[in-house]
Amino acid sequence: MLIDFHTHIFPEKIAARSIAALEAGIRNIQGADYRKGEALTFRPATLAGLLDTMPASHVDRSICLPIATKPAQTAHINDYAETVRSERALSFGTVHPADPEAEQVLENLKQRGFRGIKLHLQFQQYDIDSPEVIRILQKAEQLHLLVIFHAGADIGLPPPVYTPPKKIRHMLDYVSGGNLIAAHLGGWEQWEDVLEYLAGTQIYMDTAYISQFIDPQLCTEIIRKHGAGKIVFGSDSPWEDPADTLRFLQSLGLSDEELALITHKNALRLLGECEK
Ligand SMILES: [Zn+2]
Repeated sequence: MLIDFHTHIFPEKIAARSIAALEAGIRNIQGADYRKGEALTFRPATLAGLLDTMPASHVDRSICLPIATKPAQTAHINDYAETVRSERALSFGTVHPADPEAEQVLENLKQRGFRGIKLHLQFQQYDIDSPEVIRILQKAEQLHLLVIFHAGADIGLPPPVYTPPKKIRHMLDYVSGGNLIAAHLGGWEQWEDVLEYLAGTQIYMDTAYISQFIDPQLCTEIIRKHGAGKIVFGSDSPWEDPADTLRFLQSLGLSDEELALITHKNALRLLGECEK
């Protein structure tokens, strides 16, 4: 079984426009020639696009992660997210650290049956160890909501980095970390620091959008030091084909049991769908 814990979709009406804006952001940061003439996504960023391509990518279930870039968008985004709740695709909710009602938003999401939320502090421009974010993380821990957050640099957004491994480590002084998932293996393009500051802590890490960028040996080292029991499979689809993520993980020389933990066992445990 393969569960992709890190995918993105948009409502049909705004999907093409949203992806075009994100691609423009990537070429703005990486240079106009970055993968010139190529689409940077492998499928349409819609629910239909996701469901259609999952079989070819060997994915059984996908978790969809929405992001509120302004507090005023939150209610709208969460309303759409609530409609994405099937056996094959399940959306998390979102909240913005600038929202003075952030704790109520989380309570409301919990009541509506959401399993977790996504934070993208690179868009939201708050440090992971800021009081505004700690307050959200403490509330989420109390409500048993999962929190998956962008970690490290972002290919399409300028510095500063709001979630470097060192600040994530500092944030862990305030929460247990057992319900947290740091995306991009703990810190995109900051993997030496992940190895030093985060490997071995209580948090989970996903494997989204790392396969083309990380040194395979360093990746294996991080997974082994952190423990495969706290790594969850994520692709960042539509930005990476989960089939490519899987191929990369299979090339690392991990054991069958380590791969099973990463591809689905840890995800099922986090979603509360198995005993251990
Ligand atoms: Zn993502």
